[in-house]
Amino acid sequence: MIVAHGFADRDVGVFGLARTGASAARSLIAGGARVHAWDDEENARAAVSASGSRIMPFVKWPWERIKTLVLSPGVPLTHPEPHAVVRMARDVGAEVIGDMELFARAMCGGSKNSNVPIIAITGTNGKSTTTALIGHILSSCGYAAEVGGNIGKPVLDLAPPASRTAYVLEVSSYQIELSPSLAPDVAVLTNISPDHLDRHGSLENYATVKARLLEQTLKTGQVCIGVDDPKSAAIRSRFVSNGGPDVVPVSVGKVLGRGIFVLDGVLYDSRASHAAKVLDLSSAAHLPGAHNWQNAALAYAATHTLVKDARAIAEAIVSFPGLAHRLEDVGRIGKVRFVNDSKATNADATERALVCFDDIFWIAGGREKEGGIESLKPFFSRIRKAYLIGEAARRFAKTLDDVPHEVSGSLEAAVVSAYSDARTSKATAPVVLLSPACASFDQFRDYEARGDAFRALVAELAAPAVKEAS
Ligand code: ADP
Repeated sequence: MIVAHGFADRDVGVFGLARTGASAARSLIAGGARVHAWDDEENARAAVSASGSRIMPFVKWPWERIKTLVLSPGVPLTHPEPHAVVRMARDVGAEVIGDMELFARAMCGGSKNSNVPIIAITGTNGKSTTTALIGHILSSCGYAAEVGGNIGKPVLDLAPPASRTAYVLEVSSYQIELSPSLAPDVAVLTNISPDHLDRHGSLENYATVKARLLEQTLKTGQVCIGVDDPKSAAIRSRFVSNGGPDVVPVSVGKVLGRGIFVLDGVLYDSRASHAAKVLDLSSAAHLPGAHNWQNAALAYAATHTLVKDARAIAEAIVSFPGLAHRLEDVGRIGKVRFVNDSKATNADATERALVCFDDIFWIAGGREKEGGIESLKPFFSRIRKAYLIGEAARRFAKTLDDVPHEVSGSLEAAVVSAYSDARTSKATAPVVLLSPACASFDQFRDYEARGDAFRALVAELAAPAVKEAS
């Protein structure tokens, strides 16, 4: 655990006691703070009751003494409107921060130990893959990589710095808003496309929040920016003209005079006098598709500041085992391959999956995001049939129009139907793809539960097939 310093004998409010809030409460108590905590969920409150926090509805907190409110990133700070606890904090002039800010103050606060690098990754899509890949590269190259934040462990649950520690943090836009003094050595912006606009008001505002992480990067540090979308490209231009940390542009498909780029699946580094070939990414089995080339190129750019040996980085990219729920191969029955891309919760992410396959039996739907699946129309020719589930099913059916589809309703019905059609189709390599382009909350706890259910359904289908074969 990393102890939150600077709050000894002070009263601190912690609102939202899911993973990060509970972790912040523990860390503050360890640092000697008096923690006043609340969550509307009884289970969440019970989870921290043993930590020594005073559990009480926030309206009853001693606001006259509270100077700091630690807010869970899931609680609205500004949009659609500030939560009542945020308004109360503002009324008494208390600062509103998140668990990453506590980490930043413990690590960076004035006397940052420059031997402990912090790499922070943000962007609309690809954050987790890039974060995990950076962690994997650093671990493979002799660092004790501590990977956390929006992925895996809450940041304050990571191990305190020791010899060869490097922190690799996935940072959501909500977390950036709550972490004004997080000053990474290396910041990575993967890309920006519309998502979470309900919480940020506009794409402009969302991009501004993302850019803030880069602006907070140490002047002596480096920012790596995926420049293939207009908003990220604009952020890069601003950096070039404003000075500050070293800027490394990263592109898939464009040759860059000075930067990192991928052309026809080959990763090049053109920061020196010529473009040096680093790696043919087709050898990285668990990073399929052009979107993963972007993640790999960004991970290369971010780690090359710490690991000088480009060949060692290339080897680590090839040995990356991949992440669950992102184009994850979950089995094959006969000629039918099953791919779990449950993490694709918006159309942009699903587009990346659709371009990877030709004969797709596509399971989609859930809680719809703004724009639906209109943007996927150019890829409909790859879809043999769609199986629609959840709240979005009827609307998606309209958009699909004359593309064969059925409203399956449940994931279970969709898997059975898709497998049956794929098996009897003329396609030689059919793929049953769960890539929902929707949030999961109408039917599942989260995208992981949705992907796990898909994996289990495939295993059930496979079981009789194995029996028959034996
Ligand atoms: P995040 O943590 O930002 O949500 P993930 O790495 O978990 O990103 O990937 C989420 C989804 O986004 C995956 O389903 C994948 O298909 C898609 N994706 C991954 N990387 C990219 C990228 N660089 N650009 C666009 N989409 C991507």
